[in-house]
Amino acid sequence: MAEGVKGIIFLGPPGAGKGTQAKKVAHFLNYSFISTGDILREEVSKKTELGALAKKYMEKGELVPDDVMLKIIEKKLKYNKKGFILDGFPRTLQQAEGLDSIFRKNNISIEKVFCLSVSEEEIIKRLSSRRVCPGCKRIYNLITDPPEKNEKCDVCNVELIKRSDDKEDVIRKRLEVYKKDTELLLNYYREKIIDIEGNGSSEEIFEKIKKFFK
Ligand code: AMP
Repeated sequence: MAEGVKGIIFLGPPGAGKGTQAKKVAHFLNYSFISTGDILREEVSKKTELGALAKKYMEKGELVPDDVMLKIIEKKLKYNKKGFILDGFPRTLQQAEGLDSIFRKNNISIEKVFCLSVSEEEIIKRLSSRRVCPGCKRIYNLITDPPEKNEKCDVCNVELIKRSDDKEDVIRKRLEVYKKDTELLLNYYREKIIDIEGNGSSEEIFEKIKKFFK
């Protein structure tokens, strides 16, 4: 781990556009993009032991235990040598405290914390029409950001998939978990938080975020 590395955190409810924006910022700054959801989905698809454990929580819209998540992040950051963006981590107070201690140990500092907000009605609408490329993981929305060809990735030309936790009952559970566990982090990071109103196209929102890097 290089000395003095900086990390950017994205907070906000599921469906607020964290993944989309975090990826854009990572590309813009040439930072690493670290999505705990992507890491877990990869483990599930590879049918590893960790994947089998994570699947039990993910399919119900619940959080994977903190100790498991902290180990994943610690390992990931150990080999990371440049600035990075976290998408989907931390999600609980315990994860935020654990992250602080990993940061202290490795001389990492928090560069910025963004919080994207959108209404609950909009979240359900967005997640129900969200599709993901199983290859490059690019996120599409059939209504607001559709692929050029019918449900195929513009880059990989493979059939897009709907995440199994993007079903209305699981979406509601994920929102409930967000309110119970993750919303507390808005207070934890209050001195650093930059609030971004998340309604609008992904380009419009990215323009708002970009202003904080000038
Ligand atoms: P995401 O792709 O960020 O929406 O995450 C999908 C699912 O993976 C979540 O609903 C959780 O079950 C699990 N997950 C992702 N990140 C975390 C985390 N930081 N802590 C616990 N569970 C997580």
